[in-house]
Amino acid sequence: MEGNGVVRYRCGLIVNLVTYWKDDHPRRRFWGCPLYPRDDRCRFFRWHDPDVCARAKAIIPGLLRRCNTNDEEIRQLKKKLFWTQIAAIVLAAMAFSSVI
Ligand SMILES: [Zn+2]
Repeated sequence: MEGNGVVRYRCGLIVNLVTYWKDDHPRRRFWGCPLYPRDDRCRFFRWHDPDVCARAKAIIPGLLRRCNTNDEEIRQLKKKLFWTQIAAIVLAAMAFSSVI
């Protein structure tokens, strides 16, 4: 690693700090070659974060799935709210034009 936090390896590219999302190392960051998964990539790989305890490994995946489900539900509710507001504006405009 260089002084400015940039990491390079044999391929000369700046190594990416990536977050690993699989259940065996949930949200654990690692440095890896940006050419992955190409065959001509260098084999640079290094964990950035320490490993988490077994209890965290058991709990975090479920929490992440719940967060993702909640995020999707929020997206759907925002979409529904948007179209409800549009319908309310259209109905208000129709009611207003029938009064005039
Ligand atoms: Zn590389």
